Amino acid sequence: MKLKDWLSKMGLGNMPKENLPDSSVLDLIRYLENCEVDCEQAFHMLDQYAEMEIRKEDAARLMPLVHQHLEMCSGCNDHYEALLDVLAKVRESSEA
Ligand SMILES: [Zn+2]
Repeated sequence: MKLKDWLSKMGLGNMPKENLPDSSVLDLIRYLENCEVDCEQAFHMLDQYAEMEIRKEDAARLMPLVHQHLEMCSGCNDHYEALLDVLAKVRESSEA
């Protein structure tokens, strides 16, 4: 698979590729090759990730491995969105 296709599959297709220095692409690839979480690991970090998201912290940057997994795995992504929904409602009701 071409890197370009692969990036768009990862949801990074909108990135301005001409502004992306080669080194950062290489770093990204190296990083993705070396670190991957499976569904079980992602699942364990998902509530923490969702809470960051609720607090408007940059969850994707703080927990890139979880973010990466969610980009690739629709099962975990569904679970994450459900969790986010629950957390948002809890937060609403506690603020009211
Ligand atoms: Zn998964």
